[in-house]
Amino acid sequence: MNKAFFLDRDGTLNEDYDFVHLKEEWTWCKGAIDAIKWMNQNKYKVIVVTNQSGIARGRFSLEQVQELHRFVDADLKKHDAWIDDWCIAWWHPKFHGDLDPALLDYRKPGTRFFTEMIHKYNLDPAFCFMAGDKPSDLKPALSLGMKAFYIKSRFHETNDHEWLEKRGFEHPFNNLGEIISSLK
Ligand SMILES: [Mg+2]
Repeated sequence: MNKAFFLDRDGTLNEDYDFVHLKEEWTWCKGAIDAIKWMNQNKYKVIVVTNQSGIARGRFSLEQVQELHRFVDADLKKHDAWIDDWCIAWWHPKFHGDLDPALLDYRKPGTRFFTEMIHKYNLDPAFCFMAGDKPSDLKPALSLGMKAFYIKSRFHETNDHEWLEKRGFEHPFNNLGEIISSLK
């Protein structure tokens, strides 16, 4: 069986400016590239699970997001680093129309992308991690038996502190690099 590092995108890999979908809007968070490289070198599958409701809202297209991710992949390649899989949950309950309601479980805190990736890569959740800046990133990981890491972003003030503190997330990490340092 294999191990993986699941990652949120906005606020975890890149600075979250709201609805980031163009390469001009991509700014790596401090230490993120080196963190991904460490994951690659230490045999973690690197899997990004990102909610992109801007697509359901009609603000941009899935193709634009995929193009941005190809740009990110190319940038990582220059550093001999890579992301193994991008999971884009573009649905949103308020903009779902007649689509199959089951699709909403792809959206975090839903677990569907996580369980699909566990199957695809033959992952053992007990050896998987998830890092993100919102409780909705941490919930699916905890429910599947993974260890979760909480990153402090601009959402920190408005996140549910009661929920976070109850689960031992009262001391957030500032970035992915700090999480990797804690594992070394
Ligand atoms: Mg985020």
